[in-house]
Amino acid sequence: MQLENKVAIVTGSSLGIGKAIAMAFGKEGASVTVDYRSHPDEAKEAVQEIEKVGARAISVQADVSKPEDIKSLIQKTVEEFGRLDIMVNNAGIEEKVPFLETPLELWEKVISVNLTGVWLCCQEAAKQMVSQGDGGRIINISSIHEEITMPTNAPYCAAKGGLKMLMRTIAVELAPHGITVNNIGPGAIETPINRNLKENPEQMKELLGEIPLGRIGQPEDVASLATFLASDAASYITGSTYFVDGGMMRQSGSL
Ligand code: NAD
Repeated sequence: MQLENKVAIVTGSSLGIGKAIAMAFGKEGASVTVDYRSHPDEAKEAVQEIEKVGARAISVQADVSKPEDIKSLIQKTVEEFGRLDIMVNNAGIEEKVPFLETPLELWEKVISVNLTGVWLCCQEAAKQMVSQGDGGRIINISSIHEEITMPTNAPYCAAKGGLKMLMRTIAVELAPHGITVNNIGPGAIETPINRNLKENPEQMKELLGEIPLGRIGQPEDVASLATFLASDAASYITGSTYFVDGGMMRQSGSL
């Protein structure tokens, strides 16, 4: 097992990509804290599913945009499992509105969860890891929109672009402590965040045409990379983004 005796927190892990990562970590022997914002029942279900594969798990309510919630998320994890080895910053939101119509409140809401929230989680997790003295792993779930545009989603793209330089900068600062920091940039993954796609066959057809591997990704496609980056096998890997997108960023369209 790749993560035996490791302790992990996955933010926003009651469903979607976060849940798949929490499950995959449990299967590899990690003890896992399932963070959720507003759905305790789904979080409890995720905990039960992780326990079924023989791992320890707890659920903790914490809104990643609130500093006091992040502190208590780390504290409760350390109280329960004794330490923190792996922090996965997965929680994220998006709301598509044309740029010219986007109110300041929407910009602030998306940035507070997708960028400031990750910064807060990285800082609190790193403080705990530094105090333990034997390194750690930070993995941020970014997006292909770290690099490529998505019209009507400027706050989301700005936040994910920001995650690129946040990750690169703190990877250098935390390297002397043996803490690695990397981003995963998913392409189109089938989760509740893009449920509208399933209801729109035309849009789905168009999207599939843009993915060289010809299918939408599954949360497990992201979870397998997160498991590798969290493992001892990835101890020399820090400061980069790894894309899980079926080749989407490399397709050359009509050329
Ligand atoms: P999702 O909506 O299914 O899951 C997001 C999770 O984050 C939910 O559990 C939600 O409750 C939680 N969350 C939202 N705000 C929170 C907050 N303030 N505090 C704590 N938790 C909060 O979406 P997903 O597709 O599983 O997305 C997970 C991550 O992957 C996000 O960061 C998203 O931007 C990124 N991503 C997803 C895709 C995709 O195609 N699904 C593509 C690229 C990147």
